[in-house]
Amino acid sequence: MAIRTKGYPDALDKKLRDTRLYSEDSNPEFTKKVEKISMTIPHMCYQCGTCTASCPSAPRSSYRIRKFVRRALLGLEEEALVDPDLWLCTTCYSCTDRCPRDIAPTDVIMAMRNVAFTRDIIPVNFLKTVQAIYTTGHGVPNNDVNRAAREKLGLPRDPPTTHGHPNYIKGIQYMLDYFELKKNADRIVKEREG
Ligand code: SF4
Ligand code: SF4
Repeated sequence: MAIRTKGYPDALDKKLRDTRLYSEDSNPEFTKKVEKISMTIPHMCYQCGTCTASCPSAPRSSYRIRKFVRRALLGLEEEALVDPDLWLCTTCYSCTDRCPRDIAPTDVIMAMRNVAFTRDIIPVNFLKTVQAIYTTGHGVPNNDVNRAAREKLGLPRDPPTTHGHPNYIKGIQYMLDYFELKKNADRIVKEREG
C-alpha cells in the first residue's frame, strides 16, 4: 500500500493513506511461501464468495476470508499480515468443506499466521498458550478448583496426561525449543507487557 503523506503525523498519515493497490505492493514470494506452507492452491480461486458466505466470523466482524485468499493470490503481504482480522478465523473448516475449487482457505490463513509470527505479528494470547504448554504440557492447565471438582466426581485430582506424568513434559519442551517457540514467545510477551 503506497503512502503519499510521508512526514505527516501518524494519525493523519493513516487517514490519508492511499488505498489503491500498485504492482509494487505485490510480493510473489509471499504467494509462493503461503502456497508452500498451506499446501493448498489460492491461485485457483475465482472469488465466488462461498467461503465468506460459510464463515461464522464474517457476520460478526469485518473478517472476509475471500479477501485473504485474494491477498494470497496477489502477494499482498503487508495488507494480509498487518490486518487484525487475520486472527478472527475459528478454523472451523466450513470454507474448506465448500470451496468449489478445492482450495483450503483455512490453511491459507494458518500459513499467513505462521508468516506473521516470524515477523512478531501475533496476539499475546497465542504466546501465553505456548508458555502454558511449555510449563505444563497443556494449553489450558488443571487448577485447584477443577481438582476439587474432579475429586467430588470420584476422579483422580489430575488426569492421566502430563499432569499425572510430568516426566513427559521434557519431550514437549524439546519440540518447542527446537522451533524456538518458547524463546520467541517470552521475548514478545516481555516487549509488549514489560
Ligand atoms: S470458496 Fe474457494 S473459489 Fe470461492 S472465493 Fe472462496 S477460496 Fe475462492
Ligand atoms: S475456517 Fe475460518 S475462514 Fe473458514 S469458514 Fe471457518 S472461521 Fe471462516
